[in-house]
Parts: sequence; C-alpha cells; structure tokens
Amino acid sequence: MKIQPIQAKQLLSHVKQPDEWFGLKYNMNIYRGCQHQCIYCDTRSECYQIEDFTNEVLYKENALQLLRKELASKRIVGTIGLGSMNDPYMPIEKEYELTKKALQIIAEFGFPVHIITKSNLVLRDLDLLKKINDVYTTISFTITTTDDELAKVVEPEAPSPSNRLKALKILSENNIQAGIVLMPVLPFIEDNEKNIKNIVTNAYQNRAKYILPSFGMTLRDRQRDFYYEKLDKHFPSLKKRYINKFGNDYSCSINNYHTLKKCFYNLCKKYNILTKITPYKKETVEQMTFF
Ligand code: SF4
Repeated sequence: MKIQPIQAKQLLSHVKQPDEWFGLKYNMNIYRGCQHQCIYCDTRSECYQIEDFTNEVLYKENALQLLRKELASKRIVGTIGLGSMNDPYMPIEKEYELTKKALQIIAEFGFPVHIITKSNLVLRDLDLLKKINDVYTTISFTITTTDDELAKVVEPEAPSPSNRLKALKILSENNIQAGIVLMPVLPFIEDNEKNIKNIVTNAYQNRAKYILPSFGMTLRDRQRDFYYEKLDKHFPSLKKRYINKFGNDYSCSINNYHTLKKCFYNLCKKYNILTKITPYKKETVEQMTFF
C-alpha cells in the first residue's frame, strides 16, 4: 500500500449537534484512507472522494501544527472524535506516531477525546490516555463478530476481535470508559443469535461499560461494488440474496431484526451493560487565550 503525505487546510471539523451516538463536538482525521481494509467500509463511498482507498493511505503532514493552532482558538471545550473515516491506530501509526503526538497536544490543551478503533495499538498510549482522562477519555472498539476467523475475512488487516477485547479490558481496569461499537451487523453473515450473544457475553467478560448497536449496514455506489466483489469471493450465493432483498437501498437492515434486537437488549440488561456512552458534559465558553 502506498503511503503519501498531503497538506491539509483544516484538521478539526464541527460535528452536527446533538451527537447522541458518540457525544462528539469536533471530529479529527489525521489520515485519509485506512489500512484495515474492512470489506464493508463506508469510507469507500464516492462522497468521501478517496480515489484509491484499496491501495493508498495519505497522512496530513501539517496535522500537528494545524491542531495546535485550531485548539488555541476554540472557545468551546468539547469532545474530539478520532476514528470515524479511518482507524487512528492503523499499522502505519506505529511508525508515524501522528495520533500519539496529536493526543499529546490534546492533553496539553485539556480537551476530552473519544477514540473509535479496531486496534490494540491504542494501549501504547495508555499513559497519555490516562492523563487526558483527567478531563475525559472514552475508547470504543468496533466489534462486529467475536469469531477471529470470520473477522479475518471481513476486516482482513485489522487486529483480531480477541485482541481488541483484551485491550478493552486493560483500559477498563485503568478506569477509562471503554466499550464496543457493534456496527455494522452484516446481513446473512453476522445477523444470528449466536453472534449477538457472543458479543454481549464477551463484552461483559472484558468489562465493557457499553455497547452501541446498529442492526444493519449501509451500502452505496463503489462501497457496494467492492463489498459485492468480496461476497462473490468469500460467500458465493450471498450477492444474489442481497440484491433481491435490498436492491439499491442505502440502509440494509438485518434479518430477524426484532428477535435479535430483543435478544441484545435483554442480555445487556442482564449483564448491566449500557447501550449509550456517558458523554463529556462540561462545556465552557471561556476563551482559551491563556494557552
Ligand atoms: S477500520 Fe474503519 S475506516 Fe478502517 S477500513 Fe475498517 S471500517 Fe473502514
């Protein structure tokens, strides 16, 4: 995969309020493209204008300078989200350390963070995350299956779900709010009671505070084309079922929606797992000129 530098004009974008899912005020992407190459990834869609998602990752060479400048001018202290269009802990982060350096700046400015990742590399930054947690840190691990073999097919370059769960436990043991993003749930592949039960049980065993569910997936333009190509390769016969059921729909709901949803909520209740995060609350309008 080619790794190329780019210059960005802006780093932090405002998130439409209220963000009831992730509690974000700002969003930050240091990378464009993602090495994890999940077969269902929505970032392949045309609207994101990443031309060669399969073969190229771009990193924003001036990201850290921009971040420092933009945080100095923010009047509202609100949660910064990492991980919405790429994974901030994809393999190249080991070498580039841009996420780590960005977190150091965030810690310096006293902003809260919510990181969404599929990687246990996040543990490298544990001390830093603990420091940011004086304000607020939340780490969400995306887990769509607990089956490591299936994950190798649908999330080929990401660390295994087992490793994500171990990392989750360590974060929780360090008093960092950590949980699971259960999205997508792939129709005909992951929409079965066994999978939902395994995810909730493993969440409980690994001390997840919450699971944020979305019972389906989205499909559009070139994301759909890529996904169907991978279905043909790994799950012959499924493409036809998708076409029959969803046509050109963007939102593709799981089979047995009501049964699985009920099963999920009953188990979360049994294990005392929340289905929402506890967001950062304190927003101030103090001008942060003292920095
Ligand atoms: S980790 Fe997220 S951004 Fe990266 S390929 Fe997978 S779904 Fe896409």
